[in-house]
Amino acid sequence: MAAPDSLRQIPSVASLLARDEVRSLLARHPRAVVLGAMRKLLDAYRSEALRTKGGGRPREEWASRLIAALPGAVAAGEEIPLRRVINATGVVVHTNLGRAPLPEEAIRAVSDTASGYSNLEFDLFEGTRSRRLVHVEEMLLSLTGAESVHVVNNNAAAVFLCLAALAREREVIVSRGELVEIGGSFRIPEIMAASGAILVEVGTTNRTRLADYERALGPATALLLKVHPSNFRITGFTEEVPAADLAVLGARHGIPVMEDLGSGAVFDFGAAGIPGTPTIRQALSEGPGVVTVSGDKLLGGPQAGIIAGRKELVEPLKKHPLSRALRIDKMCIAALAATLRLYADERRAAARIPVLGMILEGEGMARARARKLIARVRRQEARIVRRDGVSPDPAQPLRGETPSGSGGLALRVEPSFSFPGGGAMPEVGIPTACVAVSHERVRVEELEARLRKGDPPVVGRIAKGRLLLDMRTVRDGELAGLAAALIAAAQGTGEP
Ligand SMILES: *Cc1c(COP(=O)(O)O)cnc(C)c1O
Repeated sequence: MAAPDSLRQIPSVASLLARDEVRSLLARHPRAVVLGAMRKLLDAYRSEALRTKGGGRPREEWASRLIAALPGAVAAGEEIPLRRVINATGVVVHTNLGRAPLPEEAIRAVSDTASGYSNLEFDLFEGTRSRRLVHVEEMLLSLTGAESVHVVNNNAAAVFLCLAALAREREVIVSRGELVEIGGSFRIPEIMAASGAILVEVGTTNRTRLADYERALGPATALLLKVHPSNFRITGFTEEVPAADLAVLGARHGIPVMEDLGSGAVFDFGAAGIPGTPTIRQALSEGPGVVTVSGDKLLGGPQAGIIAGRKELVEPLKKHPLSRALRIDKMCIAALAATLRLYADERRAAARIPVLGMILEGEGMARARARKLIARVRRQEARIVRRDGVSPDPAQPLRGETPSGSGGLALRVEPSFSFPGGGAMPEVGIPTACVAVSHERVRVEELEARLRKGDPPVVGRIAKGRLLLDMRTVRDGELAGLAAALIAAAQGTGEP
């Protein structure tokens, strides 16, 4: 069938592939991406030509239009690479930024075991098949005080597995104040429905009493579930039932209690003056039969879901078919084992596990880092000025506690609050120091965007019209990159 007249002038893919501009794109990008982008543009041109009856454009005009648009279309069609980012938000466990940075020991363990074969499921002494959990089980038992532990892909998987294995087609009683959504689409009512357990809501959004649970108990009850509200607080006229009271009620009726702690810790933050997050051991001592936590929140390890509790509740989980579907992979096992090993000594844990270090670090350290960053930017600016043959301003203060800035960039140390994040202790703000960034000629929104799109990308936050870079979540090793990114952002390129 002949093409309608209006389409005759649209160039063919074959003719475009012969052009130098397209060839040079093909040398730098996957063929499928370039072809996909080209077809998309051609489709759009075809509909435009049909609409406008060809628009009277000659073939060469369509072709040069496509050549001009192609690099952008190719860039948009390409996968966005996963890359290292500087977290200057002050949120230590930031889900969108990948949660816990791993301890060096864990990184080495991952690299070591992943680059070759390992004894993942092989007993080197007996020469027989083994289980992958043996590499973390003993440490978890001793760190949590639990009778039995299990580990799966993440905490959502842990909750799902517990509900499916312990309460399928039976009832699970939950307070209406704890029917939470944790973000990334983890919602208690939905995970419950997917597991096959039947949700029984009790109490109200702000107040639930023990009697509410008691009234809902019946022959179909399989579990009493308590969920850590994680990312919000209900304040004012409120009442909730402590896990300990639920445990007593459950024990009286022979019904197990499960607690989704979310961000349960191994390190005792309460003892270090940061209240709000119990350790897994403390949570278990309140009496629930089983608790679940994430591996990459306050524990500071890789993504994982840890289930700890009484033998008769946890052991059946290991044999459940879902356990195989939700199992933890070898790199996570390697990282988790290395992280847990650090907890054998609390002081070493605090020094070696980045999440702990960042939360426990004093304000003074963040302040010192802020000063270091400002000094670095000023030194680098002076170097640029010398290189470009303009004499550096002798009045330019290099230490920069005061607003100043060659090139219009002003940097100032400013006190603020950081947050542990990860759904942990949402009300706990940790005093910190930020570098407040502004520019004589560039709006803060533009500065924020340039830093975010820069290299390395830097994520800060805008508060009350200022761009704040929280120095608690910036590591010393990142200061050089951050200084370069700031100068590039001030120069307007976004890229150093
Ligand atoms: C974070 C959290 C989850 C989800 O854990 P993942 O490890 O992200 O799957 C579930 N429940 C609570 C209470 C949480 O805080």
